[in-house]
This record gives sequence, C-alpha cells and structure tokens, in this order.
Amino acid sequence: MQEKRFQKNDNGFICQVCGKEVSPLGYTSRNHCPYCLSSLHVDVMPGDRANPCRGVLKPIQALPDAKKGFIIVFKCEKCGAIVRNKCADDDDMKLIIKLTNPF
Ligand SMILES: [Zn+2]
Ligand SMILES: [Zn+2]
Repeated sequence: MQEKRFQKNDNGFICQVCGKEVSPLGYTSRNHCPYCLSSLHVDVMPGDRANPCRGVLKPIQALPDAKKGFIIVFKCEKCGAIVRNKCADDDDMKLIIKLTNPF
C-alpha cells in the first residue's frame, strides 16, 4: 500500500499573514494563501504537516515552469529554510508576475 506516500490535506484555513479566509482548492492540497502567497512552514514532505517549525513562509521569487505554470520560492522567516511550491490556479497572478522579477 502506498497511501501514506502523499497525504491529501485540502482544508480551508484563515491566512495567518493577511487574515483572509482561504477555501479548499479541490484538486490538490492548498499549501499557500492565494491572496498574499504566504505559507506556513508545516511540511517536511508536501502535505505531511510534520514540520514543527510553523514559521511564516514568505514568497521571495517565482520561477516560470513549462509544466506547472510557476514555481513559487518561499523563505521561512523563522528558520531561514527555502521551500518551493507550485502555484495554484487561483493565486494572485499579479503578485506572481511581480515575483518573477524581484530585483
Ligand atoms: Zn494571505
Ligand atoms: Zn521554518
């Protein structure tokens, strides 16, 4: 059985950074806020929520990806880890475009 390999964890949540209510995504685990793109450092493997850090992941860059649209690069404000996640369909595209050219 491989059911533990990827845990689906698609629940709505209140964004701890911008305070907006985020609804479940439906097709995959929501891992960041679509309004401010911030996330929480809770996963070791995607969706496992096994990371005790719980720091705020701030989006620092977006990388165009031929297959997935954009990859968002996050930096954890607490432990400094760099985390990458693919963007979701309803992410704020204006923010993502801005992040493709952060400098
Ligand atoms: Zn937010
Ligand atoms: Zn962290």
